Amino acid sequence: MTTDRHADLRRTVREFARQEVAPRIAAMEHSQTVDSELAALIAAQGWLGATIDRSWGGMGAGQEAKTVIIEELARVSGAAGAIVQASQLGAAKIIHLGSPEQQRTWLPAIAAGDVLPTIAVTETVSGGHVLGMQSTARRTRNSWVLDGEKVFVGNSHVGGLHGVVLRTGNGPAGLTAFLVESDRPGVSVLPHSSALGLHGFSFGTVRFDRVKVPASAVVGDVGGGLAVAYSSSVLYGRPNLTAVALGLHRAVVERTVTEATTRTRYGAPLADLAVVQHKIGQMASRFAVARALAYEAVALLDRGESCDDELMAAKHQNVELLLDSVRQAMEIHAAAGLDARSEIARLMRDSWCINPPAGTGDIQVHRLAEQLLHPRRHLDWSQRLAGALRLPPHETWTRAPAGKDQVDALQTRTS
Ligand SMILES: Cc1cc2nc3c(=O)[nH]c(=O)nc-3n(C[C@H](O)[C@H](O)[C@H](O)COP(=O)(O)OP(=O)(O)OC[C@H]3O[C@@H](n4cnc5c(N)ncnc54)[C@H](O)[C@@H]3O)c2cc1C
Repeated sequence: MTTDRHADLRRTVREFARQEVAPRIAAMEHSQTVDSELAALIAAQGWLGATIDRSWGGMGAGQEAKTVIIEELARVSGAAGAIVQASQLGAAKIIHLGSPEQQRTWLPAIAAGDVLPTIAVTETVSGGHVLGMQSTARRTRNSWVLDGEKVFVGNSHVGGLHGVVLRTGNGPAGLTAFLVESDRPGVSVLPHSSALGLHGFSFGTVRFDRVKVPASAVVGDVGGGLAVAYSSSVLYGRPNLTAVALGLHRAVVERTVTEATTRTRYGAPLADLAVVQHKIGQMASRFAVARALAYEAVALLDRGESCDDELMAAKHQNVELLLDSVRQAMEIHAAAGLDARSEIARLMRDSWCINPPAGTGDIQVHRLAEQLLHPRRHLDWSQRLAGALRLPPHETWTRAPAGKDQVDALQTRTS
């Protein structure tokens, strides 16, 4: 349930995106390199700390506010939305499972925008199958030695603090998460190679070659790496990618309406054709559903209610609905949409990049089925971490529950 404060935040981010992000898009698309300046600029706004407690210098604003920020950035640039989503995702494990020392060291720096964190789980041999990972960490007397390679790491080339999950034993209890500074000896990133879309964002390969870290670098428990990976992905990855999809979806609808109302055919705007109107109506309907799902799921998180299923369904549906709208947008643009430099072509490319992270659609559906068929097999992360997720009732980011007077007035009006 968004408040006036969310509306103010939306206006601020929208203005920033218009002034600071939009002018950079042509260069990002042309060079297809990493825009580290944009990452620093976004970080300096304090938005990476949207869900970091105010005692650490964060915004303490919760998940709905986080969604507003990502949506508004992604509406202008998928890459900008992806930069902030990856950073907030990287912060999640420290917020929820970090030691007091880790929180003291890193949360103020992340909130201030001085450090961009990452989470590095995926390997070439294991994507959706997290337990298939093979990179290792070996315990020595007072430290650990990390070896391996992580691929598709969001913020790979701008991240200052990697959160890497590695194999420290066999089976599900054989994974452990570590915090590793990017300038630690043995840490390297492979040269950036251009992907289909999200130009300006980096999601490349990070290599760990006999990297020595102290015992205090372990996040959570030794053997608790799966909890770090899953809780981050369910509580931050899913809603963050949902928000990127939502921002892209809004842009796709807006771009298509502009195209349909400004291109003339048969002596009238394209929008006069019934088939074009029908497609625009379908896109508007999908966007409304996508938006409702996205904000309902994060509102539940802010209230500390159980919502793992809603978060997964929102990610699944937002990507599916977006890709359906993209197809109709491309149909309406026809040949003009095939110009690789066109806005709709960029939006189409960026939209496809949102499908795999935090789980493909198949993975969301698989997990949702598992929840129904084998409810005891999976932990409910939104419940397990509800204490840390719930926004305090005095926070002005939450709307106060309706008082008895308001309820009575409403009943009078509707009876
Ligand atoms: C933009 C972007 C950002 C990313 N950011 C990060 C990041 O910050 N950190 C990180 O660690 N990773 C990141 N990733 C990687 C992402 O998490 C993986 O791409 C994702 O987990 C899917 O893995 P995969 O691509 O190897 O596909 P695979 O897991 O190999 O899947 C291949 C196909 O098999 C299907 N499939 C797999 N398992 C199942 C199943 N159990 N049931 C049904 N179907 C299944 C999939 O749906 C897909 O169609 C990012 C990826 C992208 C594109």
